[in-house]
Amino acid sequence: MAAIYCSWMNEDLRIFSDSVNKFIDQEIEPHYAEWERDKWMPREIWNKLGEAGLLCVDIPEEYGGIGVGFEFAALIIDIFSRRGVGAVSVGAMGVHGGIVAHYIVNMGTDYQKQNYLSKMASGECVGAIAMTEPGAGSDLKNIKTSAKKTEGGYLINGSKIFITNGQHCDIIIVVCKTDPSAGAKGVSLFIVEATAKGFVRGSKLEKLGMHSQDTSELFFQDVFVSEDALLGPLNGGFIAMMQELPRERLVLAVGAQAACEGMLDITLDYVKERNAFGQRIADFQNTRFKLADLATKVRVQKAFVDQCILLLAEDRLDTATASMAKLHTTELQGVVADECLQLFGGYGYMTEYRIAREYADARAQRIYGGTSEIMKEIISRDLFK
Ligand SMILES: Cc1cc2nc3c(=O)[nH]c(=O)nc-3n(C[C@H](O)[C@H](O)[C@H](O)COP(=O)(O)OP(=O)(O)OC[C@H]3O[C@@H](n4cnc5c(N)ncnc54)[C@H](O)[C@@H]3O)c2cc1C
Repeated sequence: MAAIYCSWMNEDLRIFSDSVNKFIDQEIEPHYAEWERDKWMPREIWNKLGEAGLLCVDIPEEYGGIGVGFEFAALIIDIFSRRGVGAVSVGAMGVHGGIVAHYIVNMGTDYQKQNYLSKMASGECVGAIAMTEPGAGSDLKNIKTSAKKTEGGYLINGSKIFITNGQHCDIIIVVCKTDPSAGAKGVSLFIVEATAKGFVRGSKLEKLGMHSQDTSELFFQDVFVSEDALLGPLNGGFIAMMQELPRERLVLAVGAQAACEGMLDITLDYVKERNAFGQRIADFQNTRFKLADLATKVRVQKAFVDQCILLLAEDRLDTATASMAKLHTTELQGVVADECLQLFGGYGYMTEYRIAREYADARAQRIYGGTSEIMKEIISRDLFK
């Protein structure tokens, strides 16, 4: 499949894609297998991504970004995912640059923007967002972490789980209850610095895939934050999260689409090399039809993802459409991973083969950023409204 086949590609993006690929050649690919084995990515990689201008590209220049459109951010995620090093982009371009930075751009005070954004773009400051708790994931209204008003600020108590960038993060947007009796209308967001007294990182969690990604539990014990730490309006956290959903979901869909294309590419190469019964695996009709079927689905899906990218760039992407993109791409990513792995035979099950890693990594995509079932809830609510 042609690597870059999309309606929004232009000469600037093509030149930019060369520098992204070069960065992966030099700084990521030579080390990635080792990071996955060690289940750890060095902190310096954040600074290198920042130096290369790959973090927070689509935030304004005055805050350290390049001030370009979402297409540039999407292209970086596309290339990392296409090349099978998605554990880096999920944390760096997904959560840090695609979510946390945009919350601060869109809702932050001048102080918050000046204080954090340029450091996030340089990689000096790593961002995380902590919504999920041991007792509440899909049902976010039910979170228990509280921020109680005290003199000069708030005291935060509670715990969060499955937090991407949990070990490396320097700041965390923490979703808290500020009015426990008000349901969704009693939720607020706070920026907590990892140096705050009472903040404790749990150990890095053992996962099925994306081993080098630092997913963690986080604990807040009487963590004092000043009033400056409130992000967006008091008790307006739920509405703020809803407003940011289209971008978050599309970021995941872009990664899923590119991962599908990348998996097809490496599978095509493999079946042309490997022989059985005196012919190439590629020459069995089953192989050809399987790949033709998957390639068609992936190509058709790409048209929709490209349309969503353009809609977001024009600020016209709605939550239901973004949820469709997340649902469809991540479900297809699971199918492509499974079918392609099968064509690798026993080698496909060996973790030293990229397809095995892709298979495990793909599984989380249907869970985080809202599960497939929650996507269906949102889409159906829109259909029946
Ligand atoms: C690798 C990884 C990284 C993550 N990173 C982050 C992060 O950075 N920040 C963060 O805050 N969270 C993060 N998460 C958490 C993730 O967003 C949640 O796991 C997810 O939202 C699901 O919540 P849960 O695990 O509590 O599952 P539950 O909500 O308990 O759901 C269990 C099952 O019930 C289904 N279900 C729930 N409600 C409904 C319903 N109304 N209708 C039908 N079915 C339903 C779900 O779809 C699911 O199949 C991460 C998770 C993983 C695995």
